[in-house]
This record gives sequence, structure tokens and C-alpha cells, in this order.
Amino acid sequence: MTAYEPVIGLEVHAELETASKMFCACEVVDSTSARPNTAICPVCLGMPGVLPVVNRQAVEYGLMVGLALHCEIPAFNQFARKSYFYPDLPKGYQISQYEYPLAVNGWLEIDLPDGASRQIRIRRAHLEEDTGKLTHVDGHSLVDLNRAGVPLLEIVSEADIHSAEEAEAYARKLRAILQYLGVNSGDMSKGVLRFEANVSVRPVGSDELRTRTEIKNLNSIRSLARGVAYEIERQTAVWESGGAVQQATMGWDETRQVTVVQRVKESADDYRYFPEPDLPVLEISPEWVETVRAQLPELPDAKRDRYMNALGLTRYDASVLVAERAVAEYFEAALAAGGDPKQLANYITGDVFRQMNLEGREREEIGSLRLTPQALAQLVTLVQQGTINHGIAKRLLETLYAEGGDPAALVEQQGLAQVTDESVLAGAISAVLDENPDEVARYLAGEDKLIKFLMGKVMKALRGKGDAQIVQRLLADQLEARRV
Ligand SMILES: [Zn+2]
Repeated sequence: MTAYEPVIGLEVHAELETASKMFCACEVVDSTSARPNTAICPVCLGMPGVLPVVNRQAVEYGLMVGLALHCEIPAFNQFARKSYFYPDLPKGYQISQYEYPLAVNGWLEIDLPDGASRQIRIRRAHLEEDTGKLTHVDGHSLVDLNRAGVPLLEIVSEADIHSAEEAEAYARKLRAILQYLGVNSGDMSKGVLRFEANVSVRPVGSDELRTRTEIKNLNSIRSLARGVAYEIERQTAVWESGGAVQQATMGWDETRQVTVVQRVKESADDYRYFPEPDLPVLEISPEWVETVRAQLPELPDAKRDRYMNALGLTRYDASVLVAERAVAEYFEAALAAGGDPKQLANYITGDVFRQMNLEGREREEIGSLRLTPQALAQLVTLVQQGTINHGIAKRLLETLYAEGGDPAALVEQQGLAQVTDESVLAGAISAVLDENPDEVARYLAGEDKLIKFLMGKVMKALRGKGDAQIVQRLLADQLEARRV
């Protein structure tokens, strides 16, 4: 039987978080909450005789993304009209870029779950304007043009992606870069970031390109991964059964978790692109590019490498910490408060994420936790100084997570400081040994694993506060002393 390999390319539409729209002075508002049709003007309504003006900030945001994706920035840029009719597009055409996009020939490094990384080539990134939004209720269609004319950057990858996992890793990395750059919030529930996947499959080892389908309506990164995985499986089954995949636009049905055909394509769409006559050519000088490059913040890959080289973190920990800008900021705030980097990384990627998972919180919400980065730093320092042990620290972290507060004060109030006084520890140990003569006898007869049971009893008697290393040593000594 033939094995099949997926060939996937992704198109990403990212709204750019500028103050005003792409070609007019209208404010960019939250299209999920603002009153419909309040942020509009003759330009974005497509009234006759109006003239567009390019938003310089949008161009700079686009340049930042292009540079972060290692693209070339051509000096000659041109806007083009993409003509089609739809009720959410009052002009009857969208101003986009066609032959001369803002950025070309870049790449993005993706991090795979097995720790490997791979480069995915970026074909182009171009500026355009968003359309309005249609809402269908009770047989009526309502149009809100607040979103019409909002700057969009379309980022197109080459078909270098070969699994649903890689598609997900690409989406996560690109989203992180946009967030680090501060040009897009990455909030897919508000529609500011939208993915489309082009998927085909072919026999492994061949370099042919078979008929592809395009999946739309992917409203989250999870939907993207599931939609792509579903489509790979569906197409493979079609070829295996002797059929042929039909070129089509598919939608992802979130409820049924299947792709459904929205429109069968028999030929490529013809948008009659031509240069936008109302806008001058956009020239981007090398000086402008360098000015923008100089403003780029530290991006996830560079941050990961710094965490590894300067702080001694493992590649895995460093990758997890930089994957969300909010997590990296939390980590760095804790670091600035004096916490040990490795311990902080352990607590954040372990206990803190576990608590957040229990509550169903997204990692990017880490900045709003009651457990502040300063408190986490203090907790880690209390452990390192030997004031509290790891077990107590874990319990205290749960309290701080739920209620907030000051770790040192809580240790004081609740008497959680580690017990290191050997006479106190020895007393607790001999009491436990006296109470468990059978286990002591079995241990002395060779059942080594019972030392764990006895250790647990002693720590329980000490309400978890014993210094584990000292307890271990004293317990071994006292057991030996009872060997007759
Ligand atoms: Zn406007």
C-alpha cells in the first residue's frame, strides 16, 4: 500500500493594531463589541470621488513583520485593485498588493514537539484592507462596516509544511512573533488573526503536487490543527479508494469536527488585478528599512538562545518560556526580583502551569495571576536559603495562586519554616519507629523500600516541615541502631 505525505501551505491574515484604518482616518475599533457602523467615513464606505491615503504606521508594522520573518524588502511597492463583489465590500474592490508585495522570500523556524526545529519558507507578506462583517439573523443579513478598511497583513508560506503538528507549530510561532512585535494581539476569538490552510497529499517520495483544497473558518489554532489533520485523512482515503480529490474551498465545521465543501472550484478566480490608480507607488528606502530594523524587540528565537546561553536553561524550558510573550515577561519580572533562573523555570513550567490548566486558563493570562512574579521569586529564594523545603513550597504556591500574598509573611504566620533542629527531628523519628515495629522489622529483614513508608510517616509527624536531607540521614542511622 502507498504511504501518503501531506503538503501544506498556510495563509495568515493578521490585522495590524494601528490607531486608524489603512486608507482613512477612521479609528480601528473592536469589531466584536463596538456599535456597528460607528467607525466609518466616505473613504471606507467607498463613496464616489474619495481618495485613499496610505497609513504609514501600517507600512512600518508590515515591515517589522517582514524583517522578523527574515524577508527581503523590495524598494518598489505597489498597491493593486482586487475586484470582486460582496456586500461587505462597498467599493466593489479591495485594495491589496499583487505583483509588488511589501516583503518576500523569508523563513520562520518552527519548534516541534519532539524538540527538533525546522525552517518553513515564507513566500510573501503583503498589505491590504479588511472587509466589513456580515451577520445573518432570521433571514436577514446585517452589515457592519467598522472593520472595512482595517489594515491587514497577509502572510503566505511556501508549501513546506508536512503534518498537522507542523502547521500548528507554524501558527503558534507566527502568532508569538506578532505578539512580541506588538502589532497584533493574537486574539483569535476577536478575529484579528485568521488562518487558511491549503492541503494536498502525495505518495511519499514523489515531488508531484496533487489537487489541493483550501480550508477556511479556522477560528483557533486547535481548529487549524484538527481541520488539517482531518483533511489529510480524508484526501488519503479518497486516493486510496481509487478516487480523485476535487479542487474545492472547504469549511471547518467546529461542531461536527469535519471539513465540508463550501464551493467547488473549476478554474482560478479572476480578480482582474491592476495597479491602484489613486495611490502613488510606495518606495521603501534602505534607510527606512534600517530604521525599522533598529526598533525590533528581542524576538522569541533570540530570547530562547539567550535563556540557554546566559541563564543556563535547557532548550525545552527556554522554548516553553518564550512561546508566549506574556510568559516570558512574567519570567523576566521574577528574574528581576532576584529568583534563580532554573528554579523559576521549573516552578513556572511545572506548578504554575498545572494550576492554570486546572482552572482552564490560557498561558497568556499569566500576567493577571494573584501569584505575582515577585512572590514566586521570593518563594524560590526561601527554598534556596533553606527556610522552607520543596514540599512546603509547593503547598504555599497553591495558596499564593489562589489568594495571593507575601510568601515570607505566610511562612511566619503559619509556622512553615523548615525544622532543622536535629534533636527535634530525632525525637520525631524514634516515636515513628516505636509506633511501627512491624515495618521496622521487615525493613531490617531486607525490605528496603519500607524506608519510604517510614520517611513519609516522619515527615507527616513533622507536618511536612522537616529538612528532608537531615531526616533521611537520621532515619537511616536510627534504623541501623535497632539492628540487633
Ligand atoms: Zn473611514
